[in-house]
Amino acid sequence: MNNIDFERITDAFDREHLWHPYTSATDPLPAYKVKEAHGCRIVLEDGTELIEGMSSWWCAIHGYNHPVLNEAAGRQLERMSHVMFGGLTHEPAIELGKKLTGILPEEFTHIFYADSGSVAVEVAMKMAVQYHYALGHPERSDFVTIRTGYHGDTWNAMSVCDPVTGMHSIFGPALPVRHFVPSPQSRFDGEWLQEDIRPLEKVLEEHHDTLAALILEPVVQGAGGMHFYNPEYLRQASMLCRRYGVLVIFDEIATGFGRTGRLFAWEHAGVKPDIMCIGKALTGGYMTLSAVLTTDKVAETISGNSPHAFMHGPTFMANPLACAVACASVDLLLSSGWKEKVKSIESQMKRELAPAAFLPQVAEVRVLGAIGVIETKKPVDMAWMQRRFIEEGIWVRPFGKLVYIMPPFIISPEELSRLTSALVKITSEMPE
Ligand SMILES: *Cc1c(COP(=O)(O)O)cnc(C)c1O
Repeated sequence: MNNIDFERITDAFDREHLWHPYTSATDPLPAYKVKEAHGCRIVLEDGTELIEGMSSWWCAIHGYNHPVLNEAAGRQLERMSHVMFGGLTHEPAIELGKKLTGILPEEFTHIFYADSGSVAVEVAMKMAVQYHYALGHPERSDFVTIRTGYHGDTWNAMSVCDPVTGMHSIFGPALPVRHFVPSPQSRFDGEWLQEDIRPLEKVLEEHHDTLAALILEPVVQGAGGMHFYNPEYLRQASMLCRRYGVLVIFDEIATGFGRTGRLFAWEHAGVKPDIMCIGKALTGGYMTLSAVLTTDKVAETISGNSPHAFMHGPTFMANPLACAVACASVDLLLSSGWKEKVKSIESQMKRELAPAAFLPQVAEVRVLGAIGVIETKKPVDMAWMQRRFIEEGIWVRPFGKLVYIMPPFIISPEELSRLTSALVKITSEMPE
């Protein structure tokens, strides 16, 4: 255990003035000051090295300070870091488009670049609404989703987040009311329970004439609860949606780029949506960039009818710097043997997290791809647990009843063992 002077790794100005995610401005949870990061290590102000278990929220799949990504950023910086995308285009956007269409189903012929995951979700939802508008059905502007989902923090993204664990209780009166159906109970590798699809069937039957799209995270629900559900749900849901003319949006922002053991999670089900959002690991965690991909059908319908344009255009659309790094990150991923790496991370996590299932504090342990989850029976004391993790030399940020890791794919077996053993040890120290 490291002996750490916690005063030295926090900052008074930060504490007084800088708002951090999901915490008080006046009495915040501690934020630890990072000096640098390299490979699978985060180095704090006092030199303490932490093994990275979060990939900075799903993003840093190649670890930090990667020479190949640094080089790509540097090369692009010398040419231009940004130009507007209205009326101009550039090689990084074109090259990234070619790479993405190369690794995604050939049906995805049209790409819209956006700034962040939440904005991609906004764009995808607007696309679905404008598609129906173009078909002469402006009344088809509502959405259906499954519970315990997470799609981001902006307005419409928030409206399809889980209504209980999401922010509906605070923003409820100002949020559009969506249709929520229970999330599937059939486990990823368990038996398919046919009744799982009934609630969606019923909503589609009754409300299809006001529905633009079904939006969900395929197979893995991330920040809404870290659930892994049966891919059969996606097959049946998409069949039903097709029958009723409701579009399907897959939010692959967390699941994309190998995290679940497939390059994209739709592959587990073999079901292609009409619209797909990607983000997070797209730039290997270097900077913010997202993309919304769609089919000829959607793009042609929107473009073939008044106003003959999709009505969205962010200032930093297709930022060349971000696109250049994304190109390098995709190449790096494809040439890295990611599939074997994710497989071996998966089997090591299964082996090493299994003992946690016997702890009295623990409800369940589950692992899929490079995602390992310990679900506790009671909510964790985040400030205490975070501090203990730092003393043990690991970086893990639990929330609610979820203590989980999704390490960079470059993690070594020794580093991963240190992560998993500290995770099990500190979970065992929780009050029962
Ligand atoms: C993180 C996340 C988002 C939001 O992305 P931001 O870049 O934080 O706006 C949307 N959907 C899913 C599934 C996510 O995990």
